[in-house]
Amino acid sequence: MPGGEIGRQATLLRTLSHPGRLGIVAVLGRGEACVCHLAAALGRSQPYVSQQLAILRAAGFITSRREGTFTYYALRDYAVLGIVDLADRLAGNPPLSRGQPAAVSGCECPACRLAPVEGHRAQ
Ligand SMILES: [Zn+2]
Repeated sequence: MPGGEIGRQATLLRTLSHPGRLGIVAVLGRGEACVCHLAAALGRSQPYVSQQLAILRAAGFITSRREGTFTYYALRDYAVLGIVDLADRLAGNPPLSRGQPAAVSGCECPACRLAPVEGHRAQ
């Protein structure tokens, strides 16, 4: 029976081993975000993002909190970014940006109304 420590490792890595979920983890690595923000940032529908968030939450990767009409999702433990960074390195990808959350065009969440628009930041 597959169990024990290796079984838990495999379950954890299997949950992350998905393009949509890796994308969500990468965006949340820059700070908490609502579903509409994640959907706009990833170019996916909100139902798709909600489905992947549910899987990540069930696996214990993320937490959520409500504020007004928005629900914000955040990484429960930012240590997960170490796995993402390592996977990027092994894949030869450039390192992820770790700046402040940037506004995503098409997103109307409070964070986007306050943040500078990505790519249009004053140098
Ligand atoms: Zn937003």
